[in-house]
Amino acid sequence: MRIILASGNRGKYREMKKQLEPFGIELIPGADVTAPLEVEENGATYEENALLKAKAWAEATGLPVMADDSGLEAAALGGLPGIRSARIAEGGDKERTRWLLEQMKDREDRRARFVCSIAVVIPGMKEPLTVTEYCGGRIAREPAGESGFGYDPVFIPDGYENSFAELGDEIKNKISHRAKAVKSIAETLIPVIQLYAVRSM
Ligand code: IMP
Repeated sequence: MRIILASGNRGKYREMKKQLEPFGIELIPGADVTAPLEVEENGATYEENALLKAKAWAEATGLPVMADDSGLEAAALGGLPGIRSARIAEGGDKERTRWLLEQMKDREDRRARFVCSIAVVIPGMKEPLTVTEYCGGRIAREPAGESGFGYDPVFIPDGYENSFAELGDEIKNKISHRAKAVKSIAETLIPVIQLYAVRSM
């Protein structure tokens, strides 16, 4: 089955595509099928935002769509940047990472977690599918490493001493919030795909 990813984020696409291949699901970048859709992410939760994106793209393309919404929650900041992770500070990933380190500079409690919700909308199917998964860890004192995207240089997952950006794709793709959510949604999708294939024969 081919599923459109409702996102222009190449980092996310690369991670999710690899993880879906073993399930026989081919992920297609949204940009390959339609001009970028501006969907206002005004939901109160990651799940609501993922659903908003998946529904809008499914309506625009008439194809099965997967969307994710994710963020980083620091315990000492009451869960910030949270669902505002992508826009908590002006600029790009570097500026937002700097904002986070500045907020955390006098905090002893470095605990944090990444959260990822994934929604799948298949035209003709009554209910969308959704899952939410987590990856616990802590916020580093300074950025380290080059791989990945977003806050990867300052997030050290539980059980490791290095940031996601230092650990690299292979480890990140086994333990991350997104890896867990992709696996979970893929397992949920298998029987649905079989049904969908039979119906469209
Ligand atoms: P959205 O899910 O595209 O709305 O954005 C989520 C925000 O959280 C972006 O700023 C990402 O950079 C950040 N984020 C989400 N997942 C990750 C990750 O795996 N590594 C680093 N940053 C992430």
